[in-house]
Amino acid sequence: MVLKLYNSLGREVQPFRPIKEGEVKMYTCGPTVWNYAHIGNFRTFVFEDLLRRHLEFKGYKVRQVMNITDVEDRIIRGIEQFKKTRLELTSFYERAFMEDLATLGVEPAEVYPRASENIGDMVNLVKVLLSKGYAYKAQDGSVYFDVSKFKTYGALSGVKLGAGKKAGRVSADHYEEKKEAADFALWKAWDENDGDVFWETELGKGRPGWSIECSAMGLKYLGDSFDIHAGGMDLKFPHHENEIAQSEAATGKKFVNYWLHSEFLHVKGEEMHKSVGNVVYLRDLVKSGWELLTIRLFLISSRYRDPIDLTDAALEQARAQRARLVDFVARLKAPGPPLGTKGSTLAKGFLSDFEEAMDDDLNTPRALAVLFTFVKKVNSMIDANKLDEAAASEALAALERVNGVLGVLEFGEESLPPNLSELIVRRDEARKRKDFAESDRLRKELLASGVVVEDTPGGTRWKRVSKG
Ligand SMILES: [Zn+2]
Repeated sequence: MVLKLYNSLGREVQPFRPIKEGEVKMYTCGPTVWNYAHIGNFRTFVFEDLLRRHLEFKGYKVRQVMNITDVEDRIIRGIEQFKKTRLELTSFYERAFMEDLATLGVEPAEVYPRASENIGDMVNLVKVLLSKGYAYKAQDGSVYFDVSKFKTYGALSGVKLGAGKKAGRVSADHYEEKKEAADFALWKAWDENDGDVFWETELGKGRPGWSIECSAMGLKYLGDSFDIHAGGMDLKFPHHENEIAQSEAATGKKFVNYWLHSEFLHVKGEEMHKSVGNVVYLRDLVKSGWELLTIRLFLISSRYRDPIDLTDAALEQARAQRARLVDFVARLKAPGPPLGTKGSTLAKGFLSDFEEAMDDDLNTPRALAVLFTFVKKVNSMIDANKLDEAAASEALAALERVNGVLGVLEFGEESLPPNLSELIVRRDEARKRKDFAESDRLRKELLASGVVVEDTPGGTRWKRVSKG
């Protein structure tokens, strides 16, 4: 089966063909470590993880690079605001980011290069662009990319250079609100607002622009041309457009074959914005009692290039779905009767339907429907006493393989009989409404049945203890 992906470059679904057979080189724009990443950012990171895992499911060897942006306008503002050094600020948020990724079950990339450790490569790239006439030096010593020299500028985003108009010049790292092509800063000459964030280089005293960071690290760690570049929709212009211009102007080769962008996450129907005050962090959801894998299941419940709306109802639905899956695993692990069944064709059909759904540009709603149809079918066979041990273990193996892509189950998870899991849910609810007398009473009732509950940052955990 052929994987098809929606390529923002060309704006159509295309069959995926890697440059080198069996291998995929992929660059995913990483976080700017000036603050915690919010849940919208994690939607993108989980989509990229899903893409990576599906490529691995299909047998590709993946080399993924995710940069850590530790030099950028917002970091300089953060240094001033929090009275920290650049390193103190960025290493704190980098560590928090890595923890969040791991708790969401995101597979690590092969390389996490930091911008601050690749300044020399950025300087060299800017020098090439100057020598080829694509860049020019401004009076203050900053270096700008001349977008009028790069004829295909705008091919990715559709943004055009005004006819006969000279592009304006922008030195800010973020200017998406303008929606028009502009000469952008490759190198920013130091000014006093930068404080002690600068490097003394052949280009003078200063720091790189944000987009040159990604071009330099992409070219360095993946080569002049590679397969996939992914990121959130908000990065398409100007960031990715600039990356293409810088890289292709310097190498004369096509930078990236497939550009993938994930849509926005909304909160209760509204766009998430600092100004609206509705920015949600992963840690907020965990504090409200949502389990991490429930959050992950919610994040993949819409296809990556459709919008997704964060609501309690949507999280509750993901929680209920995950509970069904955990229960299903427990039923498959319980010994079945030694009967001949059609288990093998069932599992095979399930795997190929799942692969087909994911090959359809990572159509996760369809893939989840395939999964729950399988759960329903197998459950009814168990109910009818028609699933023998061999078929059950085949079903379990198929489920593990699918979960290798979705990552919403931990196979060590044991499930409780429904009456006890019901008590855990009721106790969670009591805690949420701060009815601590009731939650304590339920805790004791569970303990009497040999179950200890613990409240952890990742949600409620339970384990069995011997009674008495
Ligand atoms: Zn980037």
